[in-house]
Amino acid sequence: MIDRIITSAARKQFDRALKFEQGIPPELPSCDDDRPRLLYLHIPFCEELCPYCSFHRVIFDEGLARQYHAAVRLEMALYRQKGYRFSGIYAGGGTPTVLMEELVETLRLARALFPINSVSVETNPDHLTDENVEMLRQAGVNRLSVGVQTFDDGLLQQIARYDKYGSGEEIAARLTQVSGKFDTLNADMIFNFPGQSAAMLEADLDILQKIKMQQVTFYPLMVSHLTQKLMREKMGEVNFSREKAFFKQILRRLEGDYEASSAWCFSRKKAGASMIDEYVVDFDEYAGLGSGAIGYVNGVCYANTFDIRQYISELEYGRLPLQATRTFSPADRIRYDFLMKLFSTRLNVGQLEEKYEGRFLKTLWKEMAAFTLAGSFRYFTPNLHLTPWGRYYWVIMMREFFIAVNNFRDHCRRQAGLVRLT
Ligand code: SF4
Repeated sequence: MIDRIITSAARKQFDRALKFEQGIPPELPSCDDDRPRLLYLHIPFCEELCPYCSFHRVIFDEGLARQYHAAVRLEMALYRQKGYRFSGIYAGGGTPTVLMEELVETLRLARALFPINSVSVETNPDHLTDENVEMLRQAGVNRLSVGVQTFDDGLLQQIARYDKYGSGEEIAARLTQVSGKFDTLNADMIFNFPGQSAAMLEADLDILQKIKMQQVTFYPLMVSHLTQKLMREKMGEVNFSREKAFFKQILRRLEGDYEASSAWCFSRKKAGASMIDEYVVDFDEYAGLGSGAIGYVNGVCYANTFDIRQYISELEYGRLPLQATRTFSPADRIRYDFLMKLFSTRLNVGQLEEKYEGRFLKTLWKEMAAFTLAGSFRYFTPNLHLTPWGRYYWVIMMREFFIAVNNFRDHCRRQAGLVRLT
């Protein structure tokens, strides 16, 4: 019951908050402070398009990808001219490692332009070769996040990953081989696929425990409305009512050996440094570079054009390829901070009261009261901490947040004339 209420309230709120403004020419403000910001870099090329994926991605084309990286480098230089100084970089996709020498060159320029001290890169299991790993290490990559999704061969076949990215056994062997080569090695997993059973999830958890995976991020399936329709045809209905039982199963299996780095990210205890997937947790603000990337600066969400050729040509003309903006109201900014801070499983109310000059509790007293009554929080000075129940409520909230982002992506991909080739 509570789950349904949270789902419906979050859905309404995020649909409203993420309605991008029409007809207002987007403009990026100059930056004249040195607050830590992250550079999110989107590389939209993949060797295979997975049917459950709602990200902005297209089939890999080497010539286009080379032009694209050249454009990304122009975009970075424009941000530098506007005064931005990024301290971290997160390369996501798509598959950032699909053209290694270009990625390395782009990362090299980012490190030359900005005082970068952490580099996180997403990849797929078939790219975990000795040569690639060495190139990534040389490029200063601290954290590598591998899209595993599941080790179940039947499910890998259903989600069109078995042929390209390998069997469950091969993926586990590659992860073991790479273990210890980066400060943080993360496996991205998905739970609640149609056709996935508790026994399949249990087997995935067995393998993760057996290979002593350093970090595991367990995403609930988060698909846009359009992708849900496509999945219904290919894989069956997405059933959100099974999600809670799966999440409990994950918590039960991982809680002894792992600690929470976010509501859905688990870091092995005593495994050393732990960077996480959610740069939105570590950084209050981030710029989105690359086609279809979304940034958040000074209370404004910015989105770049999803049309890859237009993205390249705008930059060749020396213009930032912005397509849309959304200015958050003061209350939406506070809500966004609340959502992201608690996603890291703890929140310092005193700090937020100070940041928002005494308006934090006045704005969010209803949400705070409702989540407190639902048993979501425990207080250990000076922070509020999410309880295991609370972690699941935050999984729901973040799932709905990312579905709203994915719906926006679908809208822009349609406008850019991108058809789904799944
Ligand atoms: S899941 Fe990863 S590899 Fe598959 S289409 Fe999406 S971004 Fe590409």
